[in-house]
Amino acid sequence: MKAMILKKLGNLHDNKTPLELTDFPAPQPGNKELLIEVSVCGVCHTELDEIEGRTPPPELPLILGHQVVGTVNKTGEQATRYHSGDRVGVAWIYSACGSCTFCESGRENLCPEFQATGRDQNGGYAEFMTVPERFAYRIPDCFSDSRAAPLLCAGAIGYRSLKLTGLENGMHLGLTGFGASGHLVLKMVSYRYPDSEIHVFARNPKERGFAMELGAAWAGDTTDESPRKLDAIIDTTPVWRPVVEALKNLKPGGRLVINAIRKEDRDKNHLLTLDYPEHLWMEKEIKSVANICRRDVTEFLALAAEMRMQPEVEEYPLEEANKALYELKTGKIRGAKVLII
Ligand SMILES: [Zn+2]
Ligand SMILES: [Zn+2]
Repeated sequence: MKAMILKKLGNLHDNKTPLELTDFPAPQPGNKELLIEVSVCGVCHTELDEIEGRTPPPELPLILGHQVVGTVNKTGEQATRYHSGDRVGVAWIYSACGSCTFCESGRENLCPEFQATGRDQNGGYAEFMTVPERFAYRIPDCFSDSRAAPLLCAGAIGYRSLKLTGLENGMHLGLTGFGASGHLVLKMVSYRYPDSEIHVFARNPKERGFAMELGAAWAGDTTDESPRKLDAIIDTTPVWRPVVEALKNLKPGGRLVINAIRKEDRDKNHLLTLDYPEHLWMEKEIKSVANICRRDVTEFLALAAEMRMQPEVEEYPLEEANKALYELKTGKIRGAKVLII
């Protein structure tokens, strides 16, 4: 099968083509697994973290990609949930043990045996992939394959971050960073919390313009002070400056939710500008988002279908995965990038 594979880790600025188009052996489904013929796979910032070694795959070569939409091609002997031809999706959670205290309390995202799609197991930058059937999702009919793909990570993790903010209607939310996840969170908040204002912080004027087009109350630079203090802010940036800058814009008791699997170290020194009374005192909180639970994905897909959410997508052929990743790295973002297999 055709696949874009990762053979060696390294910085994208040093090697702009980390993935190689290869003819790779197609996988076979295990007992309770599905073989999926991939139609579309979303491109996520986490892939940069993998390629650049911040969350390195345990084994190489590897097929990246964890926002997968395709059809069931074959089912394992004991797989009963889906049939050949069913349209399904796969998200970042590839599997969890199912029996630890985290799994049993609905926090399988924290399971010590958590495995990630396209990191711990091969993902969707290929014509086929396998997945345990319990970790596949039906895709509501109202979404095309391309528009469904970014819902599986950017959207679902955005949904989880929004849940973790504790936002209620009328409370005001900030978004620092405005990529794939941010724009979907903005749409969710406008729908669910119509009396809540959304303030967007982004370096790139185009992203700020995009946020205003989508209904943000205000958009400014990462370091700007928002016109009002905010109840919660979600950070989707890969760096540290926005973390410190966001804290100054929180209300007393406000919460910053960091939606990132890893942060880069390049501006870590900025943390030294943290001023306790300005940034943290008054019971401000910082919470991170870790991975994703199946429940987040199913709840979010239902919500997205109900509100007829149509994410903005930019399509690339599979062979141009390196280009899509490089553009993501260099901040050329409008909506979500997807690969057409
Ligand atoms: Zn992702
Ligand atoms: Zn577990």
